[in-house]
Amino acid sequence: MVEKTQKHRFYGIMIATYLLAAIWVFGYQFASFEATDWWSFLVFLLLLTYFQLRSVAFTDRFNYSLSMVVLFPVIYLFGIGPGMVLAAAGGLVDGISLNKKWDRVAFNLGQLMLSAAAAGWAFQSFGGITAQLSLPNSLLPMSMGVVGYFVVNIGSVTLLSSLRLGESWWSVLNQLSADGLLNYAIVGYMGGLCALFTGVWQVWGAVTFGGMLVGITELLQMGLRANAEQNRREEAEEALLVDAMTGARNFRCLNRWLMASEGEGPKNETVLFSDIDDFKVFNDRYGHERGDDALKCLADAVRDVIRDDYDTLVRYGGEEFVVILPQLTSDDGMTVAHRIRGQLETIPEASLEQPLTVSVGLASRPEDSDSRPDLLRKADMAMYQAKAQGKNRCAAWDSQWETDTTLLQTRRNAI
Ligand code: GH3
Ligand code: MG
Ligand code: MG
Repeated sequence: MVEKTQKHRFYGIMIATYLLAAIWVFGYQFASFEATDWWSFLVFLLLLTYFQLRSVAFTDRFNYSLSMVVLFPVIYLFGIGPGMVLAAAGGLVDGISLNKKWDRVAFNLGQLMLSAAAAGWAFQSFGGITAQLSLPNSLLPMSMGVVGYFVVNIGSVTLLSSLRLGESWWSVLNQLSADGLLNYAIVGYMGGLCALFTGVWQVWGAVTFGGMLVGITELLQMGLRANAEQNRREEAEEALLVDAMTGARNFRCLNRWLMASEGEGPKNETVLFSDIDDFKVFNDRYGHERGDDALKCLADAVRDVIRDDYDTLVRYGGEEFVVILPQLTSDDGMTVAHRIRGQLETIPEASLEQPLTVSVGLASRPEDSDSRPDLLRKADMAMYQAKAQGKNRCAAWDSQWETDTTLLQTRRNAI
């Protein structure tokens, strides 16, 4: 409690200091403004507002805007005071458009204005002469301006966050990403270019360069829209391939795998075909709803033992599931099949009077067949062999069964 009050007091003192310092520093350079300066300033103000409102949000966390690009030219061309005014305008637009809390907005205003002031001081200290930019002489002072802005901006955010989160400022500073730093460098560089353009062509330089920045922003927005559209489409396609009840892939997905041309895919591949034992009895005894739950449990149990990134669980239909195991040999596949059976023994349904068990058939390529449809057929027949051998077991395809007419007949009847 004491700590919290102390933190609040710190916070208040800091905001007040920022604001007082900011008010104290800014505002004496507008007197020398000429008409064309006012027009350029207005162009920058409009651009800044546009960039603030149209920031490019790649994710919730990574939200970049080009607003700082137009701040640097104002600092370099017109001086510290106008730079601070523009920075404050940016903070206000940001606060109002995002409906931020007043204390946050106040902090941001102070932070942005002081950062702009630091940029101006650094620029001038390293020989930057306002309204007289030239190449290459202005490159060093402009770069130092960006560094000055960066140090004060990051420094104050770090200080505030460390107070808020109760973490050391060093650990907060360490959370800065390389991309965040690169963002400063890029935006600073673009700001320098914009200043040079405006220095040469005044308001027309500002408008022309501003047009390019708007173009970049719109291009990025288009990219984001296209990306979002692609993601939506992929999600919709993905949904079409999933069995809603168990979350396993559906027959449509299996069909894609079957249709893939021969010779495609890994050299080794094992297919498991599993079918719940006496599921009719299970349903009759415990009801269909419990039967549905059992199907979900089975799907979960299989997912627990297969590889997330490689293997595919498909609901073939009803209570039959196919598991595709790329790169696995017959022996590896048999280990997985036993694991599935073993996993089922650990779920609550295993201790029922009519326990949930499965029979699993297995076929592998290249040894059993090179054709995927044939592989599936053989895994299916191996499953029937497992049933014939007494259920709740696994059986690998045996080429002798190809000529076993009774097995073939049984399967045909079942289909
Ligand atoms: P076997 O050991 O020979 O496989 O016997 P079985 O009773 O499991 O026979 P079969 O595989 O032919 O039976 C399929 C049964 O599975 C029929 C149906 O009642 C049940 N079933 C199929 N789909 C669903 C489902 O979505 N939910 C539930 N609860 N039961 C299903
Ligand atoms: Mg069945
Ligand atoms: Mg069955």
